[in-house]
Order: sequence, then C-alpha cells, then structure tokens
Amino acid sequence: MIGIFGGTFDPVHYGHLRTVLDVREAAGLEQVRLVPLLGAVHRAQPATPANIRLAMAQAAVAGTAELVVDDRELSRGGQSFTYDTLVSLRRDQGGEKPLALILGADAFGGFLSWHRPLDILGLAHVIVMERPGHVLGAGGELGRLVADRRVADAAALAGSASGSVLPVEVTQLEISSTDIRARVAAGRSIRFLVPEPVERIIRQLGLYRA
Ligand code: ATP
Repeated sequence: MIGIFGGTFDPVHYGHLRTVLDVREAAGLEQVRLVPLLGAVHRAQPATPANIRLAMAQAAVAGTAELVVDDRELSRGGQSFTYDTLVSLRRDQGGEKPLALILGADAFGGFLSWHRPLDILGLAHVIVMERPGHVLGAGGELGRLVADRRVADAAALAGSASGSVLPVEVTQLEISSTDIRARVAAGRSIRFLVPEPVERIIRQLGLYRA
C-alpha cells in the first residue's frame, strides 16, 4: 500500500520526515509519497515558488528509497484539492489496491470542511498521526465518522481499498516550517531541524531572509 502525504513543504523538515517514516513502519506501507501543493485551499499561499519547494523535498528524501516526492499537484496547476490528487492516483494504480492518505491530527480536525471529504474516503483510507492524549475527532460529526470507520491496526486496512480511519502514534517533534522561516529571518541556525541538503538550498538561494 502506498501512503500520500501532502503539504506546503516551505520548507520540508524533520517533523514531516520522521513522522511519515513512523507511519510507514506502523502501517507497513511500501512507500510514502510527499506531494507538495501548488495552490493552497485552506491556508495562505506559500511565498516560495513551487519549483524550489519541490527541489527541497527531493533533496530531503534523496537516498531514502521508501520516501519519494510526487509532483502531480504542481504539474496539474490550479488549486490543489486532495480529492483530485487521489482520483489521479487511483487512475494510475487501479481501483482495487488500498491507498492511504496520511494527515496530521490538526489537519484531520478540519477534514469535514475539505472538498468532498466522503468521496476522499471512497478513494483512500485515512491514517491520522495522533498525539498522546489527543482524542481523535472527539464528539460531533467527525467523532461519529471516526467511530464508524476506525480500525485498530494496519492489517485491517489491507482488506479493503478505502474508507477506514487508522490512528497512528508518531514521534513528537515540535518543528514547523513557520518556526524555521522565522529562525532564518532572525539569522539563527536551523541545523538539525531540516536535512543538511535542505539547509544548503535555503542558504544558497537566500530563502526566508528578512
Ligand atoms: P507551516 O508552519 O508553514 O504551517 P508546517 O510545518 O505545518 O508548515 P506543512 O507543509 O503545512 O508544514 O504540513 C504538512 C503536513 O505535515 C500537515 O498535515 C501537518 O499536520 C504535518 N506536520 C507538520 N509539522 C509536523 C510535525 N512537527 N509533526 C507531525 N506532523 C507535522
């Protein structure tokens, strides 16, 4: 099963990379694809051009065979709806094989306000990166959706192509792209927060300077 992990990746950091590797191991995924978005739907547009965010993501995963970068949202153009991305992946891999969309618990909190959320669950399973002590989709409509679709382990995902929700606990790393951009703007170091090749691109291109 392939896992899909979308983001702005402005820049990609160890909070993205380590946690998706945790998900890969916990859920027995063959591969996780990092999918940089072009046109943000739920947030401000990234300041850094797409080709540079793509280059940083590619540099970050070079040499890690189980993580790859998928640029289909950049080549598609326009707004990057996850639904469209999953339709296109389904076209590539057929309708039968399971597919998993990986989301942070914060992103999952807003899942029902996404474009066609129930159709997304018709195309893929959803794996939510949980935080200890964080109740997944507590109460309300999202809580009911989780109660109906939650499975206890990764083996349960393999039995169908889509539609289940699996919480996975991941390494807790309080790293964000916002914080990295602020550190660079303040002239502070970002070493050990991002892979060295990403740090080099940021330095060479003078990204995020005040
Ligand atoms: P920004 O600070 O610019 O908002 P970000 O660090 O949150 O960026 P994004 O590229 O917007 O990074 O995030 C993509 C996905 O990665 C989201 O689902 C988000 O929940 C998840 N994510 C980001 N940082 C972490 C982290 N440290 N640990 C776990 N998940 C993370």
